[in-house]
Amino acid sequence: MDLFEYQGKQYFARWGIPVSAGGVAETADDAVAQAERAGYPVVVKAQVQVGGRGKAGGIKLAANATEAREHATRILGMDIRGHVVRRLWIEHASDIAKEYYASFTLDRGAKQHLGLVSSKGGIDIEQVAAEDPQAIARLHVDPVEGLTEAEARRLVEEAGLDAPAHDGAVEILMKLYRCYTEGDATLVEINPLILTPEGRVHALDAKVSLDDNATFRHPEWEEFRVGEALDPREQLAREKGLQYVGLSGSVGIIANGAGLAMSTLDVVSQVGGQPANFLDVGGGASAEVMAGALEVVNSDPKVRSIFINIFGGITRGEEVANGIVEALRRVELRSPIVIRLDGTNAEQGRAILRGHESDRLISRPTMVEAARQAVALAAAGDREAVAPTTVAPYQGGVQ
Ligand code: GDP
Ligand code: MN
Repeated sequence: MDLFEYQGKQYFARWGIPVSAGGVAETADDAVAQAERAGYPVVVKAQVQVGGRGKAGGIKLAANATEAREHATRILGMDIRGHVVRRLWIEHASDIAKEYYASFTLDRGAKQHLGLVSSKGGIDIEQVAAEDPQAIARLHVDPVEGLTEAEARRLVEEAGLDAPAHDGAVEILMKLYRCYTEGDATLVEINPLILTPEGRVHALDAKVSLDDNATFRHPEWEEFRVGEALDPREQLAREKGLQYVGLSGSVGIIANGAGLAMSTLDVVSQVGGQPANFLDVGGGASAEVMAGALEVVNSDPKVRSIFINIFGGITRGEEVANGIVEALRRVELRSPIVIRLDGTNAEQGRAILRGHESDRLISRPTMVEAARQAVALAAAGDREAVAPTTVAPYQGGVQ
């Protein structure tokens, strides 16, 4: 789960990381009230989960109530790269002498945590990495050993932070590492981490991603779900208790088992298609579960074909087939379905499906054949949707 800046700052504050005092506002009146409380000058900040808000005009300084109202009115409802601003964070403005960068994230390849510190903050770290890689200091942290203060200090020095910022930055790094590990985050990022003219170091922005697998030990995370910017497809999947991740392609995927679902994404990509999602219906594939899964995939306007890939283990093929047939009665689908059913009692299952086959419901015996068929149907669907009278050039690898 990704947090909004204001939630990230609340999270930071639990570990004593210094952030500015402020409050949330959903109307211009609220914004003025929060600004009065924080004390002018204030900064009015759009709460959307996308970077570069500053450049997009979503962050403005206000010296008085008139300006606070003006900025709040302009920013509320603004569309920042596809994210509509529904909420503002108003905080007392800071004076900035220097802007730095600090983060911890998981380096899955190295199986370690990765700390990054840079003397160049306020701009995308990716941009710094491309233009001036020397300005970024990196440190792998063994999750068992943890981070020592001496290591944090070396990181800060190596990044070339100004001397007056060293002590403050080291203290923040130690707290940020605890927030990251004890707080079960997969990313904590401060950009910019600022040095004020008075010599204080302070987090001016907060980006926090929480590890959803740790939700069970954080009942307090529930409050962060309020106003969560969920993909509507993911929202629907959550309501139905399905393991779903939205992607951007046109082939909807339904599979049983996370491993098979991931292989299905791979095979679809391999034959030139683009998966619209990951969806694992779990061990069983009852009509109930299958109908829910189809409903979620069907709700995605980009989906042009649906690939159901089921390998019967404990679940028997005829149960799965009956589940699918029953689900099709309940959900009115916009796209054709290709089914690959294999494993326990696959023959019986296929026999049931055969009775319902049409050009909207196609059964294929192997995963690759089914993937090819689904990708071809998706391409055909795209052609229809994009240009009904002309043939769009399809670049996929389907023969
Ligand atoms: P982002 O653009 O979405 O990353 O939003 P940030 O919260 O990082 O703010 C972008 C930029 O706005 C920062 O790098 C600062 O230069 C500026 N900014 C944000 N808050 C303040 C503030 O309190 N005072 C001043 N002077 N500038 C600020
Ligand atoms: Mn930022």
